[in-house]
Amino acid sequence: AKMQHMLDRLVSDEIVPQRSVMAQPIWRSGYPATIRDDTFDSMLEQGMATQSGEGQFGFGEPFIALTSHLDSLFQAAAQRSFGALEQQYPSLIPTEVLARSGYLASFPQFLVFAGRLHGELDSYKDFVEQVSGPTAAEDAGATVSRAVADHSTHLGYTLSPAVCYHVYEQRAGKCLDADLVSVTARGRCFRHESRYHRSLERLWEFTMREVVFIGSDDHVTDARSSFMREVFAIVEELGLAGHAETASDPFFCNARTAEKIWTQRLMQLKYELILPVAGGRSVAAVSFNAHGSALGEAFSIRTPDGEIAHTGCVAFGLERFAYAFVCQHGLHPSGWPVSVRNSVAASQSRRGE
Ligand code: ATP
Ligand code: ZN
Ligand code: MG
Repeated sequence: AKMQHMLDRLVSDEIVPQRSVMAQPIWRSGYPATIRDDTFDSMLEQGMATQSGEGQFGFGEPFIALTSHLDSLFQAAAQRSFGALEQQYPSLIPTEVLARSGYLASFPQFLVFAGRLHGELDSYKDFVEQVSGPTAAEDAGATVSRAVADHSTHLGYTLSPAVCYHVYEQRAGKCLDADLVSVTARGRCFRHESRYHRSLERLWEFTMREVVFIGSDDHVTDARSSFMREVFAIVEELGLAGHAETASDPFFCNARTAEKIWTQRLMQLKYELILPVAGGRSVAAVSFNAHGSALGEAFSIRTPDGEIAHTGCVAFGLERFAYAFVCQHGLHPSGWPVSVRNSVAASQSRRGE
């Protein structure tokens, strides 16, 4: 437990500041922030959010309809501008894919591996005995955890921490048929964070909409910047306060990754859209990432010219974005911009029919 605590401290943003160091705002919304500090408590009271565990929530209306509407705005923008191909992927991803992409070594602290009991009769028998033994009644949780640890094995799959690794894997060893390929998908993501505030800012299980670009260096670079402008326009249409700045990832801290953090910041490989939320805090709701040729290389993806492909991705945290929206506009649709209110009303009446 002590080791765990030290590890959590090491990787927490108190030690590796993800923001504030060298942060240069590159864009700022014209809207001032009006924040309702009781948003999270009101959501719980009204049953609009129900907690099922640390960083794990279920949601009710109109939060569900709001999240879908926001998602459809991002998806439509990607489809309109890049003809992005809609895809769906499983929540599990082969652990080998995360190893190949470098994720395993860079972010071990987030990972939640899929396991199951050893597939032998003896092992099942032992397990059943252990969980139904005399101690099981007193400390059910601890006994079951011990039994699971004693008898399980890694299955070679991990609960996916992001959506885009599926996209690279799908094209591994292939040659692209265009200078720019764009794919978009919405998926459940899992990250075991070192701590969870009493809010919807940081979740263990959350939903991401990703827009992925694969192609030549120029095409990917241009796509990321033009899409960034489009997202800023959407934020203004939504009447939200916020800004964008350069950022870096919460790499697991060692000598090798410390260098990565500075490279990422200096080369502006990552931008984040930051939205103010309750409690005087602000969160990254969208990240705009450039990976150079690192993933093209790792997955042997080539452009039509035979060059190693460059990649980039734009990732929307849907619960986070929607939470920032209700912190700023309130929980009742009557306080929302007309277009959002209409879309939410339409989806609710469709469901009511
Ligand atoms: P942060 O800076 O807040 O730690 P990140 O840089 O780790 O986020 P990315 O890896 O860029 O985030 O993920 C893309 C988006 O997914 C984020 O901008 C955010 O909106 C969302 N996201 C990431 N982690 C979480 C989480 N634990 N809970 C909810 N949303 C998350
Ligand atoms: Zn991504
Ligand atoms: Mg970040």
